[in-house]
Amino acid sequence: MTTANPVLSDIPPEIAALTPYQPGRPIAEVMRERGVSRVIKLASNENPLGCSPKARQALGNPDPELLSRYPDSSAGALRAALAKKLGVQTENILTGNGSNDILELAAQLMLAPGRSAVYSRHAFIVYELAVSARRARTIQVPAKNFGHDLPAIAGAAQNESVRIVFVANPNNPTGTYCAPDSVREMAAQIPPHVLIVLDEAYFEYAGEQPPGEAIRMLREFPNLLVARTFSKIHGLAGLRIGYGVAAPDIIDALNRIRQPFNLNAAAQRAALAALDDEEFVAQSRELNRQQMAKLAAGLDALKLRRLPSRGNFISFCAPNAAAVFEKLLDSGVIVRKLTEYEMPDWLRVTVGREEENIRFLDALKKALSA
Ligand code: PMP
Repeated sequence: MTTANPVLSDIPPEIAALTPYQPGRPIAEVMRERGVSRVIKLASNENPLGCSPKARQALGNPDPELLSRYPDSSAGALRAALAKKLGVQTENILTGNGSNDILELAAQLMLAPGRSAVYSRHAFIVYELAVSARRARTIQVPAKNFGHDLPAIAGAAQNESVRIVFVANPNNPTGTYCAPDSVREMAAQIPPHVLIVLDEAYFEYAGEQPPGEAIRMLREFPNLLVARTFSKIHGLAGLRIGYGVAAPDIIDALNRIRQPFNLNAAAQRAALAALDDEEFVAQSRELNRQQMAKLAAGLDALKLRRLPSRGNFISFCAPNAAAVFEKLLDSGVIVRKLTEYEMPDWLRVTVGREEENIRFLDALKKALSA
């Protein structure tokens, strides 16, 4: 692997020398390429009987090959569709088993013992997990009004051990959002050998339209990786579909270390269909907008402090949060405690459908008065 991108200047030589796994050729590709109408695939040690009819039935009888064949390792059709939608090249895109996979891969590429990663206090917890699993050091920057202090993050990134900066925008669990100009200013201060991971799992809820400002920033910053997901606005959390967008040499490096089949076949098919369902996306965004306002008003009426959120959830402060959490469970309402985010007095509630939010507010009122 040869590249002039400073962000890849000291990735481990063993990784740079890796060749990505070579999967068996897909049937459809060979039909197309060689003009043969009946192609048999005996390349990947799959089961010639397909799978158990019961397994197929359990999933609503999709075509058998969806289940019994290995998926397209490169997720070619989905990456092409994403590239078109975002106005980038297919080579700019890497798909993964949720955007979590992309975050893990970024940490795996950049970190090792003795190196470190920067992110904000109260930032999405997976950063800490991904960094510590690489036996690297975490540098947590104090938050500002529960949000990211971007100039302070840029300052911390000057430490010579730093190889990666994570910024969730909007952040989970605080819902705080950084305006694109402030992100751009931060990125301009970060050394070019440090990978900036902009985690945009909730960007559609923040009011941005694809491709979004972060994708435009890729032209300015060869050390930027934007992570996105189909789990939130596209409603496909159960299928685990995420993607990263970055300079082709970063994508190439990540491709060398990912699992060869990190996006399953059903996920690829569903994501492709979901991508163009703008009606569903608009409906989801609109429901979130309306219900977020009602949920916020309900929390205000209960005189609970809450953080203004640009995601699809609200974090609020409750006296004796752990007990309130338990009482909500007793009423059959599951929310999240934020103890591991160093916010022990806070709870996070996802914006649900109207009837769910009403039920939550009723249960909360009861829990607080009990
Ligand atoms: N980033 C943030 C900020 C998140 O809140 C989440 C999910 N909770 C993810 C990434 C990961 O989402 P997924 O792996 O489902 O794409």
